[in-house]
Formats: sequence, C-alpha cells, structure tokens
Amino acid sequence: MQVFETHESNVRSYCRSFPVIFSTSQGSHITDINGDRYIDFFCGAGSLNYGHNHPALKKALLSYIEKDGIVHGLDMATEAKSALLTTFSETVLEPNGLDYKVQFTGPTGTNAVEAALKLARKITGRHTIVAFTNGYHGLTQGALAVTANAAYRHSDFTYRHDSVFVPFDGYMPFDTADYFEKLVTDRSSGLDLPAAVILETVQGEGGINIASDAWLRRIRAICDEHGILMIVDDIQMGCGRTGNFFSFTDAGIVPDIVVLSKSLSGYGLPMSVLLMKPDLDQWASGEHTGTFRGHNLAFVTATECLKFWADPSFVADVRAKSDYIAETVRQILSRVNLPISFRYKGMAFGLETASGEIATAISRAAFEVGLIVETCGADGHVLKLFPALTAPKELLAEGLSKLEEALHVVAAATVAELKGVS
Ligand code: PLP
Repeated sequence: MQVFETHESNVRSYCRSFPVIFSTSQGSHITDINGDRYIDFFCGAGSLNYGHNHPALKKALLSYIEKDGIVHGLDMATEAKSALLTTFSETVLEPNGLDYKVQFTGPTGTNAVEAALKLARKITGRHTIVAFTNGYHGLTQGALAVTANAAYRHSDFTYRHDSVFVPFDGYMPFDTADYFEKLVTDRSSGLDLPAAVILETVQGEGGINIASDAWLRRIRAICDEHGILMIVDDIQMGCGRTGNFFSFTDAGIVPDIVVLSKSLSGYGLPMSVLLMKPDLDQWASGEHTGTFRGHNLAFVTATECLKFWADPSFVADVRAKSDYIAETVRQILSRVNLPISFRYKGMAFGLETASGEIATAISRAAFEVGLIVETCGADGHVLKLFPALTAPKELLAEGLSKLEEALHVVAAATVAELKGVS
C-alpha cells in the first residue's frame, strides 16, 4: 500500500476501508494480489448492479474494440449511440409508458445533477431548489449545494444560498409533505417559489431511507399544482436497484426530469444522462456541453445490459432474491445480540446500528472474513447491502453467512466491552 500513501492524495477513502490491492474481478467476486477472494456486497456503490465483468457485456465490448468501433466521438452520432437510444426506448421507456428525451452529460453522476439543476432554473426562470434532509446528489458546487450531510461541506467552498432543505419522508413524526405544501403556499414562509425539488426515492448515501409511495405522490401533486419541476435523482437507486428499472415506478409518478448514472453502462464504465419530458428540452444546441458526454464503450455495454430488462424472468428473479435476502437477514438478526433495525426496497438493504463505530466495526469484521459491505447514513451508522442483481442464490447465502459471522464478532466484542466497563 506504500505507493498509494506516497503518491496518492489524502482524499482517497474506500481504499482505507478495504486496505488490500485488488487485482481481478468476476461476478460478485473480487480477488486481491495475494489471491484472497472477497464477496462484493457493495458493487461500486451501485455502479455494478450486474456484477463485475459480466460475460455478455464483456463479449460485446471486446468485439466492438476488436472492430475498431468509435471510442471517443464528442457527441457525434455513432452507431453505438444509435443502438443505445433505440434499445433504451424499446426496453425501458416504452414498457414503462414514459416519454423522455435523453441528454448525455459529463460522465459522473454529479455532472448530470448539475445539468438538471441548470435546466430547471433555465426553464422556470427561478433559482431556488428544494432538497431533502439526508439527500446526497454529488460534490461539485451545484450538486453539493443540495447535498445534506455536513461532512462533505466546508464553508470555504460551499455556496448554497439558493437551496433550501425540507424534511424527507419519515424524518419528522408528521407528514413532511404537509410541511412542504405549507412552505410553498404560505407566501410568508420565507421560501421563494422553487424552480424544482430534487430527491432520491430511496436515499442511498443518506442511510437507505425509503420514501413511501403516498409521500412521493403528494410531492408530485404539490409540484404540479405550483409549477415546480420534480427531479428524481435515480443515480444510485435506478437501473434496477429497487427491483424495477426506475425507483419511482411503484409510486406511479412521472418525474419531470430523471438523473441516471452508476449502473447505466452496466460495466462500471462512466456514463450519465438526464431524461426530460420532451417539452422541457429547452436547451439551445451546445448550451450545456463537454468533451466526455456519452462514451461509446459505455453505450455498447449499456445496450447489452438493457436487454436483460426485456426478459420478465429477469425482473421476477431480482424480486425473488430480494425476498430471500430480506427473510435471511431477519433470521440472522434474530440470532445476533445487537440492536439493529432493518429496511429494504428491492436489492437495497439497510441495517441501522446504534452508531457509526458499530457499523464500521461490522464492515471491518466482514472484510476480515471476505465480505465487502459499506456504511452509509448521517453518522455512517447504517450498513448498506448492495449485492449484484445477477448474483446466484448460493453466493448470496455465502455472503449473508459471512455477514452473520461479522455481526457475532462485533456483538461479542460489544458485550466484552460492556463487561469491562461495569
Ligand atoms: N446522486 C446520488 C443519489 C448518488 O448516490 C451519487 C453518488 O453516490 C451522486 C449523485 C454523485 O455521483 P458521482 O459520484 O458519480 O458524481
């Protein structure tokens, strides 16, 4: 690890939680340079919903490279982009009854969030953006302004005068949609009529906080009534993580703008898009531009993985796995002597522990026995389980049994510590 300490910035983070040098990966397994193998229940923070190096995606990518397919083309029309747009429309938009134009933004999620905020402000001529407690939307200026966790902000580089935070669903012991409505309708609330609200239907970094379908519908209705645009940031929870391709499908809402990234390419290749209702596509040509908007290699793998969604058995299989994991985790928790509450939607599972220290200890103990799980939540107190949607059941069982091992280790250490104190 010395080379990283010598040459890489202090800003590095995940390599501190998982301090080995990784070398190869396949499916849900990552192997380090010593040949030690780990089960990956982190999946690149939701960027690897189809696992590592999926064979069908790898095959498509290799044959595209082999034929000297265009790799970089700015936003020029390419065969790969044409195939992606057609497949996306046929396998995702049309079956969901959605009519969206697609904008390719810079490659990261935060690039796409910036574009969404710009577009909302341009369309409405208004500046204020409403964001929600515990929301995470990225760390560039505009996106950081609507990201809630103070750990990411520093007064020297954060300007957030046009963003206002409203409690997310479940944050307060009352219906926070009522509170939002009051702020919007009461002209003495101090809130300028917002250009947009931006939200995650399930907050990933914020702790697997799940908005109810009814709350999402209320927010949609309030936005409609007041001409506020609704942006759903589906960067982490989209592309199948919650069991449907989009996280908002169960709520039956249609956001005005959707942001997708992470698992869109399916292979870990960076690509981000905005989806916007056609009448909202008010950009002038080149008004929001950039060198790496849409990467052709990502188009190729995205086209390939989107085909999975045309197969109803794929969706059914993801739901069956979700039920299996939920039931197994409940059984595990009943056997472990630690206060943990559990919530999930689809293949996004959150185990809320009593503190960031406990969650970190569990993540470390899990790594010791060969399982990669990360923490999230305001204090890092929630363990986030993000297995690949494509992971076989036996692999899931193996990963969950490693999780149980780690939980017992930390429970035993906690009991020992308490005895030491008393
Ligand atoms: N929005 C959400 C919901 C995210 O989870 C993330 C990243 O975790 C982002 C935005 C930022 O994406 P990126 O890290 O690719 O800039």
